[in-house]
Amino acid sequence: MTDPKAITRQSDDFDRWYVDVVLRAELADYTPIRGCMVIRPYGFALWENSQRALDDMIKRTGHSNMYFPLFIPEAFLQKEAEHVEGFAPEVAWVTHGGGKELEERLAIRPTSESIICSLYRDWINSWRDLPVKINQWCNVVRWEKRTRLFLRTTEFLWQEGHTFHATDEEAAEEVATMLDCYRELAEDWLAIPVIPGRKTESEKFAGARYTDSIEAMMADGWALQAGTSHHLAQNFTRAFDITYSDTANELQYPYQTSWGLSTRIIGGLIMAHGDDAGLILPPRVAPIQAIVVPIVRSNDPDGAALVDDAVTRIEREAAGTVRLRVDRRDGMRPGEKYAEWELRGVPLRIVVGAKDLAAQQVTLVRRLDGEQRTVPLEGLAVRLPGLLDETQTALRARAQRMLDERSVDVRDLDELVAAFEERPVFASGPFCNTPDCEVQIKAAVHAVSVRNLRFDRTGDGARCIACGQPANHVALMARAY
Ligand SMILES: [Zn+2]
Repeated sequence: MTDPKAITRQSDDFDRWYVDVVLRAELADYTPIRGCMVIRPYGFALWENSQRALDDMIKRTGHSNMYFPLFIPEAFLQKEAEHVEGFAPEVAWVTHGGGKELEERLAIRPTSESIICSLYRDWINSWRDLPVKINQWCNVVRWEKRTRLFLRTTEFLWQEGHTFHATDEEAAEEVATMLDCYRELAEDWLAIPVIPGRKTESEKFAGARYTDSIEAMMADGWALQAGTSHHLAQNFTRAFDITYSDTANELQYPYQTSWGLSTRIIGGLIMAHGDDAGLILPPRVAPIQAIVVPIVRSNDPDGAALVDDAVTRIEREAAGTVRLRVDRRDGMRPGEKYAEWELRGVPLRIVVGAKDLAAQQVTLVRRLDGEQRTVPLEGLAVRLPGLLDETQTALRARAQRMLDERSVDVRDLDELVAAFEERPVFASGPFCNTPDCEVQIKAAVHAVSVRNLRFDRTGDGARCIACGQPANHVALMARAY
């Protein structure tokens, strides 16, 4: 008999594995509304922990949170030509309200640049009003044809930061600062190494001068764009006629940025670390960092009392420092409990049984690699934060190893084709950054595209992998979600 709770093996079918994990770990589920998902408490706690970390960074770098309306009048969206062209196919429109047809239809925000610009037009007047550095946590709607839980849904949660600056350079600095916050969230909190770089013209945000991104490798070798930061130059401030008088009392258009990170990152977290048994969560964001499973035998009441005392003690001593839970459910075999918490990715399991307790010990099992050890009950709670840090570091190191092992350098299109013959990889090669060569790369290997132009490497005049002309950039090429 097959276990109805069993999940598809990652190596058999990565896509089905992903959906199985999301559903069975109770992170999210489908809803009767096409393309819209429900985020369940365990998944939402994971988002909240990630969100809190990023929110602290947003505030640390001098931004304030605020909130804008969900609806955007059509005329606002029309003002910036590239912006409207880029978003038009995926905008949902409200045409009726209160039983009447609206005089002007309202877009449900796909992003908020236009409403924010229309309001800041009145609020920015003098050089003293700059810089403006704000952020909002909200939902947005982009009508998607094909959806995937967390990765691509019609409605999703995100933060969108928006800033206005007196100078071009200051705006560029802001773009870089926020991209680095996204890198910090991915690497230090989610244990996912990322590759920062610049998007090509064809992949940049609609209305931006340029877009920077961080790209992460999933366990199947595909790339996930995990956060983007845009330099909007004066494109929107000119379109919306936002001006300020500078110190010489001359009217100027401010420079603008925007940057966003969404619930998509949760999909990335699942796919970067998970294995055949399910999720593997980084301790820093795991809703439950340690699960305690008491082993109680019904024919041993003395042992049961001993176990209960020990479990209560661990719970009390860990309170406030570790997100720890005791699984006291009756009528479940320990093995069933182990499998469930493994599926849900809890970093540490603490098994408390009478036999170990006779020697004043408990058994610790690490989710990441199944590493098992007995440790003294005395002082356990004090040691837990350190053990969780070790797990965090080990998980990050494992993700880095995977990225290194599946990264290759290529010198021409033949090498690019060869690199993808066995399995999806991250290929890097000199690139001249022309649309022609980008098209050639796309055509060379099915579904492979230029993810970004890496910030950590330069072309140094080496020959572009497509045209052979001297190239200043190194392109990161991969299949992408
Ligand atoms: Zn080229």
